[in-house]
Amino acid sequence: MSFILQMENKISLSMKTSEKNICQSCGMPMKNMTDFGTDRDGSINTEYCHHCFEEGEFTDKGISLEEKMARNIKIAEKLGMSKATASKLARNTLPKLRRWRKSHKTKHVEE
Ligand SMILES: [Zn+2]
Repeated sequence: MSFILQMENKISLSMKTSEKNICQSCGMPMKNMTDFGTDRDGSINTEYCHHCFEEGEFTDKGISLEEKMARNIKIAEKLGMSKATASKLARNTLPKLRRWRKSHKTKHVEE
């Protein structure tokens, strides 16, 4: 059952041509099924990566955009990116992502 769900997600993903498969929370590119987050029922969530989203919840719930950018910059620096580049990248990418767009309501918010 969940395998079929995953296949369906994969198919709908590959049809999204206008958008790259990047996490809508941190901007990480997602290439493998294991990169994706999971919904509460264990199915794959194609919007967010597994670092940000697990079992239907953000792993860093309540974090602000500024904090998330700071965190991303630190991670990128650890991976060898210069602080200037990392900071530019975070500022160009994160505010455009779905999680940080004020008007966007995700189905995960309701409780
Ligand atoms: Zn993420």
